[in-house]
Amino acid sequence: MSDKMAMDVLHSTQVVIEQALQRLGYQQDMIELLKEPIRVLTVRIPVRMDDGATRIFTGYRSQHNDAVGPTKGGVRFHPMVSENEVKALSIWMSLKCGIADLPYGGGKGGVICDPRTMSFRELERLSRGYVRAVSQIVGPNKDIPAPDVMTNSQIMAWMMDEYSRIREFDSPGFITGKPIVLGGSKGRETATARGVVIMIEEALRLRGIPVKGARIAIQGFGNAGSYLAKFMHEAGSCVVGISDVHGALYNKDGLDIEYLLDRRDSFGNVTNLFKQTMTNEELLELDCDVLVPAAIENQITGENASRIQASIIVEAANGPTTLEATRMLSDKGVLLIPDVLASAGGVIVSYFEWVQNNQGYYWSEQEVDDKLRLMMIRGFEHVYDIHRTRGVDMRLAAYMAGIRKLAEAVRFRGWV
Ligand code: NAD
Repeated sequence: MSDKMAMDVLHSTQVVIEQALQRLGYQQDMIELLKEPIRVLTVRIPVRMDDGATRIFTGYRSQHNDAVGPTKGGVRFHPMVSENEVKALSIWMSLKCGIADLPYGGGKGGVICDPRTMSFRELERLSRGYVRAVSQIVGPNKDIPAPDVMTNSQIMAWMMDEYSRIREFDSPGFITGKPIVLGGSKGRETATARGVVIMIEEALRLRGIPVKGARIAIQGFGNAGSYLAKFMHEAGSCVVGISDVHGALYNKDGLDIEYLLDRRDSFGNVTNLFKQTMTNEELLELDCDVLVPAAIENQITGENASRIQASIIVEAANGPTTLEATRMLSDKGVLLIPDVLASAGGVIVSYFEWVQNNQGYYWSEQEVDDKLRLMMIRGFEHVYDIHRTRGVDMRLAAYMAGIRKLAEAVRFRGWV
């Protein structure tokens, strides 16, 4: 996201953190501490490029708070990475971990680069250089990275190898999202989508709509959106619309999801192969039961919120709905499952990967899925209960659920 947008996102996050802590009865000192990360490191990474020249990349690692335990969160490689972006994302990770009751605080990192223009070996050198640059503040019991935008299991493998060389012992618990042969967890790749499916099922149940035949529209057909479309289609729901950066496809009787999955490219693009039947903006306003933004931030705003027809919105993407739109949708009676709850499946299975690495004993995919379901449902029930009993919208309820354990840990440690 642009730096201007990152500043806005950070500011909105801080506004809701403040409201949540006030509702929980905390004073200004706690708010001051938890509104900002405790540690943000900026690093410069020299990388020898294939043509012999050296390029210097800028990277970041933000650690929101480690009162509960080590911090945890992805590393993204993207040209628009900024300090404000990683700061906001590290706070969101604290909230996700808090809602799921994981023994972690939030972290996030990134490098300003464009992996689409770099060779395999240049990417390897950058990944190893990043780990060397941040090695003092990360580690299996300090801060545990994971994949994020444009980083993958290969990059996690290089990073794990580099960290193990620096420490001179094998350290699979240093990073999650690794290939299975290096200690990755079964079920990690589909975890975010599985978690979103569980949230959709819970929301439909509350609204008395059967999963079979429920009409779903999904913005984004990447890792999160495409697996989600597959799982909902398999469950008998009717996926009426999907979209990607190029446009959207719509069929009121349901799209042929298997065919679309077969044709999509590795960046999650498919609509450019067909005559697009609607725009991304129209997809958001479709007459359907469940709308899932699973692409980028700031898609549902004060401008289009009044035209949204879905009665349930489940945020698979990070930050797709502005605070103004959240208020408008909540007033309209839309059931909104916020990002910090809905997309927590990825970090939950990352936690399972770390637990398996630490104990050296590995679980079946069924075991992973069953444990994920339990944690997602527990998180949902907790947030929904706060929403009902405290009379706050679902986003504020999620922030209250997410920040409470962290604030308590800070208080017990005597930091505030
Ligand atoms: P991805 O890169 O695999 O796919 C992104 C999809 O969004 C692609 O289909 C792309 O074409 C589409 N897209 C990009 N710009 C768009 C635009 N302007 N309008 C419409 N569509 C657009 O990404 P992903 O991993 O599926 O992540 C999607 C969202 O979910 C992100 O916000 C991410 O932070 C969030 N998320 C993902 C995970 C995960 O495990 N993948 C976990 C938590 C949160």
